[in-house]
Amino acid sequence: MKRESRELVYSTEYDLSEYKHVLTANKYRQLYDTLKFEKWHWNEPSSASRETLSLVHTEEYLNDFLNAKVTDQTQRAEVPIDNRIVQAAMTATQGTILAAELALKHGVASNLSGGFHHAFADHAEGFCFLNDTAIAIRYLRKKAPNLKVLVVDLDVHQGNGTAYILRSDKKSFTFSMHEKDNYPKKEKGSFDVELASHLGDTEYLKILDKSLETVKKKFLPELIFFIAGVDVYKDDALGGLGLTFDGIAERDRRVRAFLPDVPIAVLPAGGYARKIQDTVALHAQTIRILHGSLR
Ligand SMILES: [Zn+2]
Repeated sequence: MKRESRELVYSTEYDLSEYKHVLTANKYRQLYDTLKFEKWHWNEPSSASRETLSLVHTEEYLNDFLNAKVTDQTQRAEVPIDNRIVQAAMTATQGTILAAELALKHGVASNLSGGFHHAFADHAEGFCFLNDTAIAIRYLRKKAPNLKVLVVDLDVHQGNGTAYILRSDKKSFTFSMHEKDNYPKKEKGSFDVELASHLGDTEYLKILDKSLETVKKKFLPELIFFIAGVDVYKDDALGGLGLTFDGIAERDRRVRAFLPDVPIAVLPAGGYARKIQDTVALHAQTIRILHGSLR
């Protein structure tokens, strides 16, 4: 299957521009504004149902979350919760499911939100309320019970929630490559690679090449989720690595070239550059490269 599709997923529900207090909450809208004049095919997700969310999340947590209650479990997201934020997270989750379905059909698809890899089954964490990736995997398994799924998580922070949720899932494989001395408290995934702070392009790419070779030997997926956080950028406020725009483009080309016949769903995840336009440009660059419109 060629990865040549133009399928992108976006909803105006993602637009949290009015939340000036939430770190880079307006990057989703700005990413859409950057891409909307290019030749993409836009898909609009509905909102994920409670039934869908409960494929991963506990009833107790969903009672708090869906009612936007401030509790220990919801507050660990470290962003204020209200009905609008709840709606955005539920729509982004359905968007990730939709992107995965489109990827299976067309080879590649990207959601303009999602990759909330710090969310656990019973609590929020690190800006993440719902673990959209784990939910999408369980959702797809209703139709394809044996679907083998690989999560390639190259956000600067470890995908701790995803690793924890999928730990006993023999048909999933979580690969996370992240900064060692940074948030969060690490959970053991299928294959974790820890990076020294301040690592630059050349060293990073060398380690990535080697790691992808290892992943290939351990697991052969039928679908890949790429958690494409751009907080590996050298000017990121929450990341300590030293990658440049070109280095991140090379990272994304490696992922595109990796198992090229396997469908891939792309999720933005983190990105907190000191200049928001850098974050937006990096997320747009990832999408263009993964879809083959930028070589
Ligand atoms: Zn991150």
